[in-house]
Amino acid sequence: MGGDEIASPEARADAVAEALVEKGHLPEGALDAVERIEEGLDWHNGARVVARAWTDPAYRARLLADGTAACAELGFEGPQGEYIVVLEDTPERKNLIVCTQCSCTAWPVLGLPPDWYKSPEYRARVVREPRRVLREMGLELEPEIEVRVWDTTAETRYLVLPLRPEGTDGFTEDQLAALVMREAMIGVARVPSPT
Ligand code: FE
Repeated sequence: MGGDEIASPEARADAVAEALVEKGHLPEGALDAVERIEEGLDWHNGARVVARAWTDPAYRARLLADGTAACAELGFEGPQGEYIVVLEDTPERKNLIVCTQCSCTAWPVLGLPPDWYKSPEYRARVVREPRRVLREMGLELEPEIEVRVWDTTAETRYLVLPLRPEGTDGFTEDQLAALVMREAMIGVARVPSPT
């Protein structure tokens, strides 16, 4: 690499990790363990939860009553998922998640937060003018729909249960899960109809 080039963040992180292990500040294998944990933190897990809730009314009821336990039923539990509260979208109400303090998400079901969710702009503006922020993100809400913005607290982690889209009658749970995007579970998008 030439002297003027700046290494990628990954390359720099690897170099720092190597140095820490070499100097004995980090036990060998510690970072692999962290990586394995991170691999389990995947928003596709949340998509499975949503698809199950769409197809199994009893599961949906359990999910809304105790999000933590219902997510754990599917094997999704762990750090930053100790107290998951599921917010149910209805035709009249759109839920939206933010963490104005920093950028918390329910790791076991939403994974680590996307960059836009961490941006100071989103965190500040979505509370003051949610409709406008949603419009800018491509979601135009009808004026009669109520928007509820949920600010993450120290303990609670939220997951939005979006509306099941039209045109999905007879879809399997797997087919439904494939439609669910992370944005819909944060609340800044609707799950689009496949038709
Ligand atoms: Fe936070």
